[in-house]
Amino acid sequence: MDFRLPQEVRDAGARMRAFVEREMVPREAELPPFTNTLSPAVIAGLVRQLRAEGLWALAVPRAYGGAGLGFLGMCALREALGHTTLCSLARLLGTEPPILLYGASEEQKRRFLLPTIRGERYGCFSLTEPDAGSDAGAIRLSAEPDGLDHYVLNGSKIFTSHADEADYALVFGVTPEHAGHGRGITLFLVEHGTPGFEVVRQIDSMGGDRPSEVRFTDCRVPAAGVVGTIGDAFGLAQRWFACDRIALQPPIALGAAARCLALGRAEGVAPTAEARELDMELDAARLMLYHAAWKADQDMDVRHEASMVKTAATTLGLRVIDRVLQWFGPAGYGRDLPMERYYRDLRRFPIAAGTVEIQQFIVARGLLRGYAPLNCLEGAD
Ligand SMILES: Cc1cc2nc3c(=O)[nH]c(=O)nc-3n(C[C@H](O)[C@H](O)[C@H](O)COP(=O)(O)OP(=O)(O)OC[C@H]3O[C@@H](n4cnc5c(N)ncnc54)[C@H](O)[C@@H]3O)c2cc1C
Repeated sequence: MDFRLPQEVRDAGARMRAFVEREMVPREAELPPFTNTLSPAVIAGLVRQLRAEGLWALAVPRAYGGAGLGFLGMCALREALGHTTLCSLARLLGTEPPILLYGASEEQKRRFLLPTIRGERYGCFSLTEPDAGSDAGAIRLSAEPDGLDHYVLNGSKIFTSHADEADYALVFGVTPEHAGHGRGITLFLVEHGTPGFEVVRQIDSMGGDRPSEVRFTDCRVPAAGVVGTIGDAFGLAQRWFACDRIALQPPIALGAAARCLALGRAEGVAPTAEARELDMELDAARLMLYHAAWKADQDMDVRHEASMVKTAATTLGLRVIDRVLQWFGPAGYGRDLPMERYYRDLRRFPIAAGTVEIQQFIVARGLLRGYAPLNCLEGAD
């Protein structure tokens, strides 16, 4: 058994970390208090530099022009990005492969997947509805066939991140002929500006996020925009959630926590025993994360691991940030130090892409029904 990460993954993580320290940390003060993004010109500059330094699309499969570093690579890059409070820009910095579109048709790949990988187009993911989030199988946005070539979408979505600025939306709807809890769910690519697709409002939050309420009113979309098979998109959503729960939120939470802990030590406010205990917990969560990422790279079923990692890493990350904030006292609460920003921006992690309570339910159900091994070293063949 070799626990070392592949050399190219370690190199990628180290290079991204150096980039973060050099190019991003010095810009943190430019973040306005209640948004988590910088000006388009600054972001474009960062993107240019990442490309020039060979740090773009490293986790994307080679078949689509990336370096093929997979989930392990995605985790290493995003753990490094966690070391800056600008980590909410991660989705714009080539570290978030559009996994949902890997199953797209050749035409969809040409129009959406490849430009997204190149950083020319961005999508948003629209599943949650006012009455269906944790219970995603209960979504109701209706997708009625209109002749042979179109569908008409009617209904509402809520908390769709970046709906206001995305070039296209990945929208989950229900085709009536297949309807039933968790069945009949189809994924549609809807271009921004399609008549009947309306961002009703953005919801202010404690962090910089402003997810949107979106309404579809007789929104006519081509059948060519269906991703995968009609009525069979629940599996695609689960695939995306497994990615999100392993490689998107947890590494950032762990990177942020490690930075705060190091700051507490450097400034002499970290109680030795407590800080050591938190180091230990961070290491345990890191092992869990990279083990899950390794399994995902072997194409193993990681739904169980994804729920465990999401729960462990996001709650631990926030706990560490909160403890370090407390060690600093009023200075920790203030905006001169990074904890205040991290705490507010990362507080969404235990909620978005499935709450931690639901992850605990998934883990418990998997164990009780025998879907998942009790021991993480079992079932790895
Ligand atoms: C910042 C942010 C960004 C988001 N971005 C997106 C996005 O881009 N696209 C998208 O589709 N969605 C997005 N969401 C929505 C998010 O995924 C859902 O809000 C989340 O999955 C919770 O679902 P819900 O809203 O139905 O909450 P609810 O299910 O109403 O949850 C409320 C509380 O009840 C608890 N709960 C619910 N059921 C159970 C149960 N059976 N047992 C125990 N406790 C339970 C939950 O854990 C939670 O604590 C975003 C949310 C946030 C906050």
